[in-house]
Amino acid sequence: MSKVTFFRGQQLPLEMHKVRIIQKLTLLPVEQRLEAIRAAGHNTFLLQNADVFLDMLTDSGVNAMSQEQQAAMFRADDAYAGSATYTRLYDKLVEVFGMEYFLPAHQGRAAENILGQVLVRPDTAVAMNYHFTTSKQHVVVHGAEVLELIHPDGLKVTSDHPFKGNMDTDALRAVIAERGAEGLSFVRMEAGTNLIGGQPFSLDNLTEVSQICHEHDIPLVLDASLLADNLYFMKIRDPRCVDLEIPAIVKAMADLCDIIYFSARKLGFGRGGGICIRDEAMYKRMRGFVPMFEGFLTYGGMSVREMEAITVGLDETLDFDMINQGPQFIAYMVNELDRRGVPVITPPGGLGAHVDAMRFLDHVDQRQYPAAALASAVFLASGVRGMERGTMSEARDINTGVEPLAHMELVRLALPRRVFTLSQVNYAIDRIDWLYQNRHLVGGMRWVEEPEILRFFYGRLEPIGDWTTRLVEQFRADFGDSL
Ligand SMILES: *Cc1c(COP(=O)(O)O)cnc(C)c1O
Repeated sequence: MSKVTFFRGQQLPLEMHKVRIIQKLTLLPVEQRLEAIRAAGHNTFLLQNADVFLDMLTDSGVNAMSQEQQAAMFRADDAYAGSATYTRLYDKLVEVFGMEYFLPAHQGRAAENILGQVLVRPDTAVAMNYHFTTSKQHVVVHGAEVLELIHPDGLKVTSDHPFKGNMDTDALRAVIAERGAEGLSFVRMEAGTNLIGGQPFSLDNLTEVSQICHEHDIPLVLDASLLADNLYFMKIRDPRCVDLEIPAIVKAMADLCDIIYFSARKLGFGRGGGICIRDEAMYKRMRGFVPMFEGFLTYGGMSVREMEAITVGLDETLDFDMINQGPQFIAYMVNELDRRGVPVITPPGGLGAHVDAMRFLDHVDQRQYPAAALASAVFLASGVRGMERGTMSEARDINTGVEPLAHMELVRLALPRRVFTLSQVNYAIDRIDWLYQNRHLVGGMRWVEEPEILRFFYGRLEPIGDWTTRLVEQFRADFGDSL
């Protein structure tokens, strides 16, 4: 089962790997961190990685590879068509998911582009447990609507529900009764729901969703990008899964779905993506879009080296010792922050720790982007780069100019898989704790430059007032000449 050590009464996660290749890091003094975040328009996406100490922006394409993955990359068969590397990846996917057809794509959103082109009909809806930024965009762009049918506990910041990623199946039935089955282009279940804290769904929930879909002939699509984390939680929390081996859990999930797509920037510790399809006719409808947008059918925009790495990475995803490190480190980080009173999403999920900026900065108006302010403040306090997941990540209505306020104001501190050590995690916890003690110093933000599309990626902000300077002064006063 789950491997943990006990150290003076505290549960510590135990790494089941050792580090044999390293990358040197720099920790800039706080004054230089202030210069860096100013130059980046107070948007952590615009920071130079060289100015970042611990990069907790994302888990996408930055997970550590194993020696087996790196070794496999050397035998990559560089052929435009019919590469043996592709065959190895294809065979592995058939073994893991049991679906006969596969279309490669350069990353997850490219798979979503193809699904959108083929499956989404205008004036219909796509029901989801919860949206992801790119998956929503590829529905909306075809004139359809996204319906989020997340279990009510999914949107509660603190909860002890073990499966906050479950879909509300009564709501799904109600939507079908109201709109008819033809009113839904497909149903999408996202493993390890990204935007609400990496929360899993249960096997029973997926089973029920699948029964409803198949009763009404609605395709069920699984977004398996964050499958590894969902599997970990199923294995330790789901009564139906505790006695199953990981490959059997994956098979049970796959058998319930018609299509499985993924970003291999997360699943498989590589860089790429693709779509597994059960039905031949569906495969043929989608196939033409691969050479049109991605590349030939045997690489789909991926390098052969990455495909080799993903093939091995998929095997590692089926190894409990390999997938438990991420969620166990995250649980440690969340529990330690929680113990210090820092508001975080509970229970701990996959992907990272999610700090609740609405409560952390309860004196900052939601229209002044508390999550964006907190992301800047965390960087100032620590050199840790997190990601705003709040109102800044929403889109202003192009016609009315109205800005929707996000359900949650979060700063996500992602833990890329197998990358950080426990002392680095402890450092981050300590600096965030300091920031929490000094939270009254942190103020709001306003736009300097607000792009119309996906503004959170490259928009620029400034602090309201001089709070960043005052925070740096307080840091110096408290930390002396330490960095
Ligand atoms: C990252 C992600 C995607 C998009 O994948 P990219 O490889 O970044 O294009 C889709 N769905 C989920 C759940 C993701 O986490």
